Amino acid sequence: MAAQMRGKVTIDLKECKGCGLCVESCPPKCLVLARELSPYGVHPAQYTGEGCTGCGICFYCCPEPGAITVYRLAAPRKTIAAEPGGAHAAAL
Ligand code: SF4
Ligand code: SF4
Repeated sequence: MAAQMRGKVTIDLKECKGCGLCVESCPPKCLVLARELSPYGVHPAQYTGEGCTGCGICFYCCPEPGAITVYRLAAPRKTIAAEPGGAHAAAL
């Protein structure tokens, strides 16, 4: 089973200057510099789409305010399995 995603990031192409600090700092190495140039002529950072833990290190390393937004994903709610033939727990 795939590991539970704990975070994700978005990069604002208008703010990213392609310095690569976030790419170097990301512990699980889930950021890369895009092959394509942005409208501003730089290779912007890009999320690979998997592996982000939501740690926020890239956010703190980035010198451009607003270039990176980190989202921490909420853990799934634990469900109480109903016993076969038994009564369910009352709603809170
Ligand atoms: S929040 Fe952490 S894991 Fe996610 S992209 Fe940034 S540095 Fe990498
Ligand atoms: S640290 Fe910021 S400016 Fe530098 S590549 Fe990453 S998002 Fe872009």
